Amino acid sequence: MLRAIIADDSDFLRKHLKKVLERNGITVVGVAKDGLEVLEKAESKLPDIILLDIHMPEMDGYRTCRHLQQRDKTKDIPVLFLTGSAEEESIVTGLAIGAQGYITKPYKEKELIARIHSAVKIEESKRQIATAALTDTLTGLYNRRFLIQRLKEEISRAKRKNRSLACAMIDIDFFKKINDTYGHDIGDYVLKELAEVVVTNVRGYDIIVRFGGEEFIALFPETNSAEALQVCKRICTKVETHEFKKGEEKISVTVSIGVFCSVETEVFDDEERYIKCADEALYKAKAAGRNRVVVYE
Ligand code: GH3
Ligand code: MG
Ligand code: MG
Repeated sequence: MLRAIIADDSDFLRKHLKKVLERNGITVVGVAKDGLEVLEKAESKLPDIILLDIHMPEMDGYRTCRHLQQRDKTKDIPVLFLTGSAEEESIVTGLAIGAQGYITKPYKEKELIARIHSAVKIEESKRQIATAALTDTLTGLYNRRFLIQRLKEEISRAKRKNRSLACAMIDIDFFKKINDTYGHDIGDYVLKELAEVVVTNVRGYDIIVRFGGEEFIALFPETNSAEALQVCKRICTKVETHEFKKGEEKISVTVSIGVFCSVETEVFDDEERYIKCADEALYKAKAAGRNRVVVYE
């Protein structure tokens, strides 16, 4: 069920519009008589769509729309202007500041409803595309692009709170051999299954991404190196003892993990640095015989 907020300074039009939406199956979760009220209700109700009058006291529709777009919580809610001003210039302004549509009063009921559905559908598609761009299709984990964004945020949070942040690079041992022996499909199965094993053995707020081919990165916020070592050792053991089984084939899988941890006093600004240091530690874990964890020193 679609949820809408309507804003109009006319009492009569608000009531009328509410009736129109509701008889078309749209729930009106908020009614506002001016821009400030819209901002307040939009933040608390998070509707799917906002129908916005332009001429309103205090804050007009244009300013309201700009404010909505500047706020994190409301910036993706589609706005349709519904207004008496039919001048070309107002229409151009309304669309230029980012409204999804501009409808003039008196409106035609079916067209209004169709435009609401269309604006909501476009927003939904945008969300899907944005999510897909940050997701690895094989494992369903986040991807490298997401990691870089998140790492920036986590680094600044760690600095602000003066907390440590651990970054682990997890790489499957002799994965090429798994592909060569059992085929690419089983290789893919191992990647998916491994993602599950890792995710189920970390805390909810740890971040796991597929970094590339058979490499994964785990970010552990507020975690020191001793704690990160312990978690990563557990991951190693869980992977080694997990039954990877596809049809008749049983595949033994191990991983090597390199851990880098910023110490409280020495948080690096550079996200590349975290990845590079974890990678160096991983290289040592491989050289030392694989199926083990090495912490960067
Ligand atoms: P090491 O223990 O040193 O890490 O050896 P390795 O064989 O795991 O490492 P290497 O980098 O030589 O090989 C990685 C292999 O991963 C090669 C590549 O074909 C395979 N690979 C990368 N992405 C995928 C994928 O999406 N699916 C499958 N099945 N294989 C992949
Ligand atoms: Mg490997
Ligand atoms: Mg590799």
